[in-house]
Amino acid sequence: MNTLLYLAGLALVALVVALTVVTPLFLVHARERDHGPDCRWCHPRLRRR
Ligand SMILES: [Zn+2]
Repeated sequence: MNTLLYLAGLALVALVVALTVVTPLFLVHARERDHGPDCRWCHPRLRRR
């Protein structure tokens, strides 16, 4: 019976962790508007160097 609660808690924890990881990146992007090719988050596939 507790399986559903366990899964819900696990999903909630995963969501919180994901937000914790994403929030600083989002704040950085909110501060600096100039994102050139050096920004890996705007250009994740540019790995030529
Ligand atoms: Zn960027």
